[in-house]
Amino acid sequence: MGIVETLTSRNADFAQTQYTEGLRMMPAMKTIVIGCVDPRVDPAAVLGARQGEIAVIRNVAGRVTPRTLEELVMLRKVSQAAGGDLGPGWELIVLQHTNCGITLIEDDQQLLAPYFETDETGLAEQAVGDPRTAIAHDVAALRGESRLQGARVSGLLYDVTTGSVDVVVPPTA
Ligand SMILES: [Zn+2]
Repeated sequence: MGIVETLTSRNADFAQTQYTEGLRMMPAMKTIVIGCVDPRVDPAAVLGARQGEIAVIRNVAGRVTPRTLEELVMLRKVSQAAGGDLGPGWELIVLQHTNCGITLIEDDQQLLAPYFETDETGLAEQAVGDPRTAIAHDVAALRGESRLQGARVSGLLYDVTTGSVDVVVPPTA
């Protein structure tokens, strides 16, 4: 059986046994996690979130890039259009991890500068090789975004060797 056949077969099982009716578009926990695409660090899985509880934006390294900020601002508009507001009472969680693949290309400025929409100096501030510093940087970027005011922002580091998260930056408004 090919991969797609395997996955659609698993979906048939999911639809039968795990599908939850009546889930809402907005996450029940009013939480958005920004995480890495790495298959070891699926935010819903490692944080034990159930279907519909959290929304997740995943990109390379789980970084708050200018693109990520634009996506969050768009989501705020969506939340407002849906009758809520991605602001007070919401959580934005940056979830990065150890042994991230981006460290393998951390010297590739040609690739990383456009990703972060910055230059050589700005790239150093992104701390690509140091997740704790990167998390602090990205939390600050979210807290400094005027169009996302009101939400609480925090930063977690997931250790791929233990499965545990460490709170690098605790949540504050
Ligand atoms: Zn990663």
